[in-house]
Amino acid sequence: MIESEQPPSTEVVIIGGGIAGVTTAYYLAEAGIPVVLCEKGRIAGEQSSRNWGWIRKHGRDPRELPGAVLALRLWGEIATRASDIGFHIGGVTYLAETDTELARLEAWLEHAKLHQLDSRMLSSEEADKLLGQSGRRFKGAATTPSDARAEPARAVPTLARMAAQSGAILLEQCAVRTLERSAGRVNAVITEKGRITCQSVVLAGGAWCSMMMRHLGLDLPQLAVKASVQRTTPAPLVTESAIHAKNASIRRRADGGYTVARSGASTFHITPAAFRYFRAFLPTLTDPTKDQARQLKYRIGQPFIDELLTSVHWKPDQITPFEQARILEPKPDHRLLDQVLSDAKRLHPGLQQVRSAERWAGMIEATPDELPVLGPVDGLPGLLIATGFSGHGFGFGPAAGHAMAALAQGQEPLFDLNDFRLSRFSS
Ligand SMILES: Cc1cc2nc3c(=O)[nH]c(=O)nc-3n(C[C@H](O)[C@H](O)[C@H](O)COP(=O)(O)OP(=O)(O)OC[C@H]3O[C@@H](n4cnc5c(N)ncnc54)[C@H](O)[C@@H]3O)c2cc1C
Repeated sequence: MIESEQPPSTEVVIIGGGIAGVTTAYYLAEAGIPVVLCEKGRIAGEQSSRNWGWIRKHGRDPRELPGAVLALRLWGEIATRASDIGFHIGGVTYLAETDTELARLEAWLEHAKLHQLDSRMLSSEEADKLLGQSGRRFKGAATTPSDARAEPARAVPTLARMAAQSGAILLEQCAVRTLERSAGRVNAVITEKGRITCQSVVLAGGAWCSMMMRHLGLDLPQLAVKASVQRTTPAPLVTESAIHAKNASIRRRADGGYTVARSGASTFHITPAAFRYFRAFLPTLTDPTKDQARQLKYRIGQPFIDELLTSVHWKPDQITPFEQARILEPKPDHRLLDQVLSDAKRLHPGLQQVRSAERWAGMIEATPDELPVLGPVDGLPGLLIATGFSGHGFGFGPAAGHAMAALAQGQEPLFDLNDFRLSRFSS
């Protein structure tokens, strides 16, 4: 448990205790910079403990690959100091059941080559063998053996403890309500517990960033979708590689079970934000090559009314939406998860007996181009932002945190952030 008194001043304040915020705190504290992280609920209470735990370069947008390569190296370094996070290099494999899927995997391999990754194609026979199948069940597969996994529920709290040991102050149940400016730049945050003066602020608030930005009079096109996951009872080890297939994806867990879910099978509750950002998201939503867009289930109901009634214009002494919803706890889609479990059982004969042991859901925040937003916020000096990971920020997280820590110290990040600047949405 992270416990500290809120100090009146520091160098850097971080908003959000997910992988992005916690790794920023970790790298700043390691560099000896005074840093305070404010989390409205609990460390890794939202996406960062609810994800599948894949740490992959495989299948990423090529613009993310330099950061993803760095992230894997950083995960390896973290794991040498924290053996309990379940970090394991077991590879990631994407299966193809149709010629179209196979062609897509082959096309991505061109990017892998450019970045000198160890990714390669598996023949139909090799893919069958990997999954204990025969008879050309799969058309083939693409695999990246150097990709990895970790246990999300353990990794971020462990990183938070490591940050605290290095001198970071981490405050739970501590929502940041607003920022203060002096001479046009950020100079303090107001939390529900009081004021902290600082030199800079890193906004790493996951699905809440768009709301905070609107409160500050700034724009961040971001929508949230609900994704459901389950873990199974312990089962034989069928393969160390995480397996991505159209209807079910599996990842071996440290407890001997599997994390099982379906990629892209998310639910989108239509809200006023959907209308606000409709034009920005339209190209992605109508792109036939995007699994996410094709498989989205649309719903309209209470969330529309709730958002409509939520004002972004609050005063620093008022209770904010951040305190009213300490932890996003969406209900998992059981019908979908039943179907996904039977599809997973068909992937490998060794999975026939698995049962669902626990189910949960998380809200994924997405940007129009499904790339993160990383860097300074034009128009508000002193504010940095790290968000918009669009469903793949757990693996990337340490690279994002490392980059934010560098920027907060006035240093160059280790990979180019140009493709991730916020201003790409306005230009
Ligand atoms: C079901 C699911 C599966 C996924 N699978 C993978 C995967 O296998 N691999 C992968 O790389 N990624 C995966 N992801 C995505 C990954 O989990 C996220 O991209 C990543 O965790 C985002 O981290 P974050 O720190 O930006 O946000 P979060 O983890 O959401 O943390 C943000 C935190 O900010 C806090 N906060 C917000 N506003 C305030 C405020 N005003 N004051 C104080 N605190 C505030 C919130 O309470 C929250 O704890 C998955 C996500 C989900 C939901």
